[in-house]
Amino acid sequence: MNLDSKIPEGPLAEKWTSHKFNMKLVNPANRRKYNVIVVGSGLAGGAAAASLAEQGYNVSCFCYQDSPRRAHSIAAQGGINAAKNYQNDGDSVHRLFYDTVKGGDYRAREANVYRLAEVSADIIDQCVANGVPFAREYGGLLANRSFGGAQVSRTFYARGQTGQQLLLGAYSALSKQIGLGKVKMYNRHEMLDVVKVDGHAKGIIVRNMVTGEVSRHAGDCVVLATGGYGNVFFLSTNAQGCNVTAAHRAYKRGAGMANPCYTQIHPTCIPVHGDQQSKLTLMSESLRNDGRVWAPKDKETAKKIREGKLNPNDVPDEERDYYLERKYPSFGNLAPRDISSRAAKEACDDGRGIATTGLGVFLDFRDAIKRDGQKAIEERYGNLFEMYQCITGDNPYETPMMIFPAVHYTMGGLWVDYNLESTIPGMFVGGEANFSDHGANRLGASALMQGLADGYFVLPYTVGNYLGEQGVAAAGQVTTDHPAFAEVEADVTGRIDKLLSINGTESPRSFHKRLGHIMWEKCGMSRTDAGLKEAIQEIQALRKEFWENVKVVGEADSLNPELERAGRVADFLEFGEILCRDALMREESCGGHFRAEHQTEDGEAMRDDEKFAFAGVWEYKGEDAEPALHKEELVYENIKLATRSYK
Ligand SMILES: Cc1cc2nc3c(=O)[nH]c(=O)nc-3n(C[C@H](O)[C@H](O)[C@H](O)COP(=O)(O)OP(=O)(O)OC[C@H]3O[C@@H](n4cnc5c(N)ncnc54)[C@H](O)[C@@H]3O)c2cc1C
Repeated sequence: MNLDSKIPEGPLAEKWTSHKFNMKLVNPANRRKYNVIVVGSGLAGGAAAASLAEQGYNVSCFCYQDSPRRAHSIAAQGGINAAKNYQNDGDSVHRLFYDTVKGGDYRAREANVYRLAEVSADIIDQCVANGVPFAREYGGLLANRSFGGAQVSRTFYARGQTGQQLLLGAYSALSKQIGLGKVKMYNRHEMLDVVKVDGHAKGIIVRNMVTGEVSRHAGDCVVLATGGYGNVFFLSTNAQGCNVTAAHRAYKRGAGMANPCYTQIHPTCIPVHGDQQSKLTLMSESLRNDGRVWAPKDKETAKKIREGKLNPNDVPDEERDYYLERKYPSFGNLAPRDISSRAAKEACDDGRGIATTGLGVFLDFRDAIKRDGQKAIEERYGNLFEMYQCITGDNPYETPMMIFPAVHYTMGGLWVDYNLESTIPGMFVGGEANFSDHGANRLGASALMQGLADGYFVLPYTVGNYLGEQGVAAAGQVTTDHPAFAEVEADVTGRIDKLLSINGTESPRSFHKRLGHIMWEKCGMSRTDAGLKEAIQEIQALRKEFWENVKVVGEADSLNPELERAGRVADFLEFGEILCRDALMREESCGGHFRAEHQTEDGEAMRDDEKFAFAGVWEYKGEDAEPALHKEELVYENIKLATRSYK
């Protein structure tokens, strides 16, 4: 597997500009000869499809929801970062670059991160032009707030619905192109495989989720923007439909899977209650601008709260442990997610957790309400408070929120070079589906930034460059009559038939839940050598059981959500093992990957830069073979590798 990152020569700040100049261009009259397939219509895919169509390419865009505007990006709450420095508080492209590399625990590629910071300011202008109603100051200027891991205010937001508003912006750009006939939109179509011709990605096989029809689609290249794989843990803050299928099937066709063990566990989610839940709810990190996180100092106090014998409001200040403020005075409640999550776990492991399960801490707005008034807090976070009250029955204006860490985001994903091209030539990957910019931990408000950077500002150049390199004579030459399409289609239908034929006794959901349990217990917030080895064996056994005993009701040729789920769970059962293998291989702690064997005396992550300053990329080697590990060494020329500290 060739991991040439194709980082352009020259000084960091000039790489992207000179690279754009050196790229091949396709003249406007020729662009209409090319067909581009975009899988995904979230922020990354929607923005890419709209931009490529605007340039003149013919785009086919696929999503499994009934409308592009229901992509999971709609769930994003708190905001999007950009180095605009509107607050004049010391921000700059270089600072956003630095914060992101440091926030990712020095496990991201410098050149990509710098480009992300560089284009961040353009994203805001683009979105404003799209009509995104960002929050504004009294005088009409765009407002900002802070997110974790930063000491400046660079987060643009639309109350607690930033993702929804950004997606509506991208969706209107996409709708314009659908209306013009430049984008053909395939809603409710699930991509089930990639088709390669002469080694290049030239098409996909999809299933119409309403009729069950399986069809072939050819293009001059393929863009995957299919989101993250957090649901391998079963319970997460992700939408139920989020899955790894597109990325995993691409992996099985030769795309490298990078750093799958880098998963983000978000510190402020509503705690799990009961074992019948199928979804967890995020309380946005933005709340930590005003909310103070605490646990009781004393185990007895915590016990009384758990038993309902003590109201948290009656716990005096001197008996509260505002542990983030205590441990990380410079960043306080805005310490990054990985660090805040571990600190919450530490308090709970110490017997000071609240909620009936003991797996919870408080996020308290008492002081902010006293300081700014309820109305101000309502204006900033009203919809989040409402959501919390609907779910828990508690009024967070009157009693502190209860929160606990939950799986939220995945930094790992398909390996891509500087052009966002995977190890399959002609297959590009954008948004959460790629591994590119966040290293081992993503800072808050930077996923939306990355998705839109990829979709609006990177892929429209690099896809054009690839098409230009292929030459206009190649445009539209591969059709679905090519034998490669028939072969891959047969694989897809064979797998569907197999799933339906097993007729066992256990539902796909039940297998998913059992997988999630293994993943969370043995590859969650803390991982050990022994636990990971057990997890791998247990997942292998579970996978075997799945293929012998899953029961998939319904038919192949009609609407069948059970069949969809079964296919996705089957992929999670393979992918979960790779994730654990990656976690086992990485014998260090960094960002969201915490190996209990590698920690400092005060419980902080201990990196091993000598041995592990690389991206770990897995290559598929066949059904029963172990995947092969490849390494992209990470070279830091502009930022000095240092122990990450927020103290
Ligand atoms: C609750 C929540 C709140 C968040 N808040 C923030 C925030 O405030 N700020 C921030 O920066 N980030 C936030 N994030 C993260 C951020 O929302 C996501 O990382 C980002 O929106 C992902 O965008 P995407 O375009 O990569 O993927 P998605 O929005 O997940 O879109 C994936 C697309 O791919 C399609 N797709 C997937 N598989 C297939 C297939 N096999 N066939 C066909 N189509 C397929 C889907 O239909 C969809 O259109 C939040 C995440 C969650 C869960």
